[in-house]
Amino acid sequence: MSGQLPPIINRVTKVGAGYIYVPGTKYRCIDCTKFLPDKDSTDGKCLEFSKNDIVSEDGYCCLWSFGNGLGNVTPRGSWEPAEAGYGEDSHGTLCLNCEYMIEFKDPRCQKVEGPINPRACCNNQSPRQEADHSAKTAQDMLLMYSQEPSLAEAS
Ligand code: SF4
Ligand code: SF4
Repeated sequence: MSGQLPPIINRVTKVGAGYIYVPGTKYRCIDCTKFLPDKDSTDGKCLEFSKNDIVSEDGYCCLWSFGNGLGNVTPRGSWEPAEAGYGEDSHGTLCLNCEYMIEFKDPRCQKVEGPINPRACCNNQSPRQEADHSAKTAQDMLLMYSQEPSLAEAS
């Protein structure tokens, strides 16, 4: 099996992975209650980071929490962006944009147990490379799940 990674047999639980499904979001900073937008740009600050750290409305991290922005509050500097897994991707961090999602019709994950919702997210998320978004499989998935899926809600 040289050159190939062994298959992952023991997946983590959804709780262990921080799996969440919130309909209608892509899990970006713009939908996070901790995002402190700059009124003159699409960037802003994050409640969790320092006042010197800039975050984009297309940002994401493991501390994401759905909701409206908190308004005029001061960043508290609890985390470094890298510690929280901060990154930026205009596609968001949906499972359907993650390299670990497999099985279109009965969506599964290589890392997380059980059925998943293609519009969910978790802390193991690994965005496909930008070039891959034009790949046929990605296009198929985006087409299939361009609306909220009618499949039974995955827990
Ligand atoms: S960096 Fe994380 S916690 Fe901060 S606004 Fe973005 S998603 Fe929310
Ligand atoms: S497909 Fe990616 S984001 Fe979705 S549960 Fe699996 S690892 Fe997490």
